[in-house]
Amino acid sequence: MKSLIFKIIRYSGLPFFFREFIQKNRVSILLFHNINKKDAEKAFDYITRKYNVISLQKYIDAVQNNTKLPKKALIITFDDGHVSNYNLLPVIKKHQIPVTIFLCASIINTKRHFWFLHEPIASMVEDLKKIPNQLRLKELEKSGFVQEKEYEIREALDKIQLDEMKKWIDFQSHTNYHPILPQCTNAEAADEIIGSKKILENELQLNIHTLSYPNGDYSERDIELAKTAGYICGITVDYGYNTLNTDLFRLKRLSVNDTGDINELAVKASGVWAFLKTRNGRKQPYGFSRVSG
Ligand SMILES: [Zn+2]
Repeated sequence: MKSLIFKIIRYSGLPFFFREFIQKNRVSILLFHNINKKDAEKAFDYITRKYNVISLQKYIDAVQNNTKLPKKALIITFDDGHVSNYNLLPVIKKHQIPVTIFLCASIINTKRHFWFLHEPIASMVEDLKKIPNQLRLKELEKSGFVQEKEYEIREALDKIQLDEMKKWIDFQSHTNYHPILPQCTNAEAADEIIGSKKILENELQLNIHTLSYPNGDYSERDIELAKTAGYICGITVDYGYNTLNTDLFRLKRLSVNDTGDINELAVKASGVWAFLKTRNGRKQPYGFSRVSG
């Protein structure tokens, strides 16, 4: 049913209109999570035919030097650092497109798990995002999830993969453990924002300049912490597109699907879907799907 809705919207001409009249002179940022190789092949093929993919760095340079960007510029990002992202390396090399992946610094290269993927709390994830961080961790512990514990199966990229990928892929920070930052105490938020940058820089020799706020949630305090830590950008999932004048700590991003449905991708990448979804002041869904790949 949903796929039919996307098909209808796609062929209504709305995505075309958005692309040619709204996105044309703006910079769109897309958010993927854990799309599989086959679907990524299709998705990147569509995106490279319809948009001009640029790197996050190129956008930052344009903002800082007030230089021009191509029409319909688009930045591809991934959140979390899921282990399946490694399988995308051949596709990324083949298409020769810049991609930024935001890593959870204390989950990568360990067998720690992403809390929101913990099966027993699947139905509670949205509720757990709304409570203070310490309370969330206590609730998770009741269901057998411990933030620092290492499990059997690895969910995040490891150092060997990251070292191979970093020649082709830009890695940036998505905090340490993916808490909801506004639910953290000052000390917790500082550790997540400042600490993750240090870990990524020291352990992977990366230049960390951008923070992707977990779940797209941030407060003024978190922006101040990011600035103090030396970040240049903060990326949200607030609906919209970017220009050379957009606040670099409130960059807007469009959440897209991790499936191979190109009708859905066309509708979401154009911003039509988020536009329709956020019309009543509702927050754009973060877009994480449990589809693995
Ligand atoms: Zn995330």
